[in-house]
Amino acid sequence: MFAEAKKALPGLTAVALIAATAAVLSGERVLYGDPTGPVPLEMPERLGPWTAEPLLFCQSDQCGASFPASGLEAGATNCPICGSALGAVSVGETSLLPANTPIFRRIYHRPGHPDIVVTFVFSGMERRSIHKPQRCLVAQGNQIVDEYTHRALCGPDREMDVRALELTRPVRSASGEVTGADESVYAYWLFNPERETVHHMSRLLRMLFDNAFRAYRPRWGYASIAIQCQPGKPDAWKEELDDFLPRLYPVIVKLRADMDANRDKALRLTGGSWQANAYDGENADLSSSSPDSQQR
Ligand SMILES: [Zn+2]
Repeated sequence: MFAEAKKALPGLTAVALIAATAAVLSGERVLYGDPTGPVPLEMPERLGPWTAEPLLFCQSDQCGASFPASGLEAGATNCPICGSALGAVSVGETSLLPANTPIFRRIYHRPGHPDIVVTFVFSGMERRSIHKPQRCLVAQGNQIVDEYTHRALCGPDREMDVRALELTRPVRSASGEVTGADESVYAYWLFNPERETVHHMSRLLRMLFDNAFRAYRPRWGYASIAIQCQPGKPDAWKEELDDFLPRLYPVIVKLRADMDANRDKALRLTGGSWQANAYDGENADLSSSSPDSQQR
């Protein structure tokens, strides 16, 4: 994807934008778009027939299993498979994301349907907060079998692009023996108050342009929807997504409007901007740096 976007976009534009950004960033400046403010998002506990609950991750990179809260004994703080500590953020995310990255995640259940895991990650001043999921997913033991842009329903008569990754991951017994494979689809896209895209490169160029020429630096969100594949029904996830996304999408529309309401808030910076990444929002019950995140 990176390579194809690179070919499509003139490299000189990127170089010019980076140079312009560097020049602008060297002095005192004011940014708009509220990149360090709260993220006005609350993960819905119900979406039509789906009900949500938190997901916990084994912190051992050897194991890396994840569990819905209801699948653990009440108050459990350790992995029932290997005994390592449990945390709200996966090992891959902890090692790749900067501290104070706002992360929101829920697993959605619906009787007779595969589970759906929805995750939102937000950038602040540091753009490393949003990285290519291809890295993180592989770090978590997945293999990417296929990748393409997929057109999904996001409303009664509205469609949008999502980037779909078809994944396979070996299932192991307690003794480490491979006993099968978990197949799933990971669909994602990127958004800020003004735009949506499935391409990291176009987000990067947009961000550089907005930052350098408009002093507009809103948070970017990265939304992902992971759906388990059912044996023998490799395409069933498309129907599930077309049913689920139109219920989730209004939440994102509202979020983007709420973020946009703070676009005129001024952030004054002197010198390097990276320290301004602090996030203290109350909604980030999964913030990777929160001291008690290990217990949830
Ligand atoms: Zn474990």
